[in-house]
Amino acid sequence: MKTEENVQRSTLDPQHRTRNSVRETFGKFVVPSYARFDLVLERGEGSYVWDIDGGRYLDLAGGIAVCSLGHAHPEITKALTEQSRKLIHVSNLYYNELQGRLAKRIVDLIAPGRVFFCNSGAEANEGLFKLARKFGHDDGRFEIITTLDSFHGRTLAGIAATGQEKVKKGFEPPVAGFKHVAFNDLEAMRAAITRSTIAILIEPIQGESGITIATAEYLLGLRKLCDERNLLLLFDEVQAGHFRTGKFQSWQRILENRHVDFLPDGVSMAKSLGGGFPIGAFWVREKYAKLLSPGTHASTFGGTPLACAVALTILDVIEREDLAENARRIGDSLMAELQALAKNYPKVLRAVRGFGLIIGLEFEPKLLAFAGEERSPATQVVNRLHKAGVLTVPAANSVVRLLPALNLSQRQAEEGLRAIEEVVEELNG
Ligand SMILES: *Cc1c(COP(=O)(O)O)cnc(C)c1O
Repeated sequence: MKTEENVQRSTLDPQHRTRNSVRETFGKFVVPSYARFDLVLERGEGSYVWDIDGGRYLDLAGGIAVCSLGHAHPEITKALTEQSRKLIHVSNLYYNELQGRLAKRIVDLIAPGRVFFCNSGAEANEGLFKLARKFGHDDGRFEIITTLDSFHGRTLAGIAATGQEKVKKGFEPPVAGFKHVAFNDLEAMRAAITRSTIAILIEPIQGESGITIATAEYLLGLRKLCDERNLLLLFDEVQAGHFRTGKFQSWQRILENRHVDFLPDGVSMAKSLGGGFPIGAFWVREKYAKLLSPGTHASTFGGTPLACAVALTILDVIEREDLAENARRIGDSLMAELQALAKNYPKVLRAVRGFGLIIGLEFEPKLLAFAGEERSPATQVVNRLHKAGVLTVPAANSVVRLLPALNLSQRQAEEGLRAIEEVVEELNG
């Protein structure tokens, strides 16, 4: 019989740390807000992770664009241990040198401005919403226009900003002051602006809805529109940013051949910034930097010495090893191979989109191989790739995303490609 005591002992006994017992514990004690895959991951090294049963996987998911240097990177471990011996946290009632240094690094990578630190992408966007509301407050403007199929986080304002019904359902009433128009449609944006509008927020590359890239014309048009109507242009770079595209932020890659002076007014960051250690941030252009004056915004854990030490180390490694170039080179050649695969199997793989190491593979949802299963085509492909030893991330209904570490090697990219080819052939029947 399973007495209370037995259950307790079995969870402590290493012999019983099986996949089923971990699942059982989750089933009893963890809020079931995630649809999880049937994998219990235990350790990692670089772009490989091992599950509790000893199975090895090539990690092309990267913790959903988070593990920018892969797993167990020795320099991150060193930064964590050394800084934790000195100072993990001080309140923002005081100065700490590392927060200032990290802010300067981010400013140097974007343009003159200031940086606010927090702990997540949703919180970074929340800061941009408050910045926008403060900007419009005195003339009664508050509305922020975002795009359909966007994703901006799971807080109440985040789901109000997100242009997808599924994240809003059941959490009404929504936070007021958000509306959505079609992505990459400048005329729709222009038509949606009212006397209440204060800002436009977009992801230059929409991540959650399947790697949809803004056109250069769209970005330039939005800038012009915002200048004409005195609106803030805000970019959510939480997923696509941090050198993943080969440039620090994805808009810089989209516009790289335009040779124009282009700047948004605010940019949110998180995911890859801390390589797995929680940190978020937003950058704001210098002329709006003083809107959030003392006492108007805060975060207890924002910009701790420990988080900033890790983020600074990651920037150092990216720079020293030129991982921006690695992401561009490995990613762009992987994408070319995947596009060739889509050409060979057009009935299976409808399109491959991306820049550098943010790649979306759009599968044909009506494939016979997908029929008769409740799970989305994207989830089914991700499951098949698990069997082939590769981790990827589903997006929307039928897109599978690759968001690996920026130091992915050519050999690892080829290994991933072979697994994807296998699954595509299998789906072709
Ligand atoms: C992941 C993500 C967020 C939310 O970030 P959290 O850290 O989960 O709060 C916001 N915007 C985009 C584009 C994201 O990909």
